[in-house]
Amino acid sequence: MTAHDLRLLRPLRQAIRHGHPWLYRSAVAPAPALPAGAVVRIVDRDGFVAWGVWDPEHPIAVRIWSLDAAAPPAAALVERRIERALRLRRALIGPDVEAWRLLHGEADGTPGWALDVYGDVWVVRTDGPAAVARLALLAAVVADRAADWNVRALVHRRSRGNLAGPRAEVLLGSLPEGPWSLRELHWQMEVDVVEGQKTGWFLDQRENRRRVFELARGRRVANLFSYTGGFSLAAALGGAAAVASVDISAPAMAAARRNFVLNGLDPDDYTFAAVDAFDWLAAEATSGRTWDLIIVDPPSFAPNARSVPAALKAYRRLLQGAASLIAADGLVAAASCSSHIDFPDLEGVFAAGVAAAGRSLQILERRGPGVDHPELPAFPEGRYLKFVLGRVDHADAVAAFVDSR
Ligand code: SAH
Repeated sequence: MTAHDLRLLRPLRQAIRHGHPWLYRSAVAPAPALPAGAVVRIVDRDGFVAWGVWDPEHPIAVRIWSLDAAAPPAAALVERRIERALRLRRALIGPDVEAWRLLHGEADGTPGWALDVYGDVWVVRTDGPAAVARLALLAAVVADRAADWNVRALVHRRSRGNLAGPRAEVLLGSLPEGPWSLRELHWQMEVDVVEGQKTGWFLDQRENRRRVFELARGRRVANLFSYTGGFSLAAALGGAAAVASVDISAPAMAAARRNFVLNGLDPDDYTFAAVDAFDWLAAEATSGRTWDLIIVDPPSFAPNARSVPAALKAYRRLLQGAASLIAADGLVAAASCSSHIDFPDLEGVFAAGVAAAGRSLQILERRGPGVDHPELPAFPEGRYLKFVLGRVDHADAVAAFVDSR
């Protein structure tokens, strides 16, 4: 393999060798006109540091693929990485889960590729032009092993900021015709890998849905930003006394109703509101109704560091609204899928929102995604999903309210 040598301009050997997978443009010597996806040998004055893949446009100029001089990021390495990822999932995810993440980008040694498995359909999302440029390599490896790995189709979904070209393209095989559905834990879900958000289902919340299933019995549950009703199904099948799903997208709401039908539930026994969640909270406050568990899982309000303050403000308003609707001893779950918001950030606005509602908060659980979304110790940028469960109580808050008069 021909590879260009790229010299480090900063003392980053240690950081790279400890597993940090990104090099920003300022960290490497200007490269000659290399195409996106070109393999580069990262070197410093002591010689080889790592194998990487070059991106001429993305702020991350190089993503590190291999620390072994004898293992460049070619087909054999991609195949080994997939095998390694499969071993983890086969060992730790049960047969009651038919959709799961196989490659979690950097954390599975496949930077820029997130690959989700929906039964025998594999769906890859790419981050940046280099990851797109290397899809032919991925398709060749998967084609070679399709029978062993049980793959009938490989589909590419473009992510935001990477939209030139079709929304989805079939790289290999063919998709099942018509609507199909798969099992996740105790429920079936409709699968649409072409039109659905991300690759079709928010696989990363599976274990938190499992928790909601366990907590739901007898509780009135409101699921804000419900999308196609993942948490709502978990609550309804877990024995909730009532379930309200709230999402601004009418198609998502229609899919949520279909998902209820798919699971033998009559959607007319439940509430589905295709409205803005902030408006729903305001309307609900005037109704006098209360809830025992409210899940707040909005889209990433903070796609970059600059948007964090505005995102935290929005969270605070949402959590204040949710806390105001909670019956005594109720629960609120707050989730964030932004890597720019950490647990202390989220818990800070959680506490502020609850206090503004005149209630008190106890943090009960800090949760993340499931085992199919591993994290690297040296790569905090990869820790994106946070799920905080809190108990929101009335008693102390009433006392504090009286005192302050
Ligand atoms: N909790 C979901 C994933 C949520 S994705 C799950 O586990 O599957 C975020 C959702 O928020 C999207 O479906 C989007 O339509 C919805 N959304 C965005 N802005 C909204 C708003 N202001 N009010 C209600 N829903 C909104």
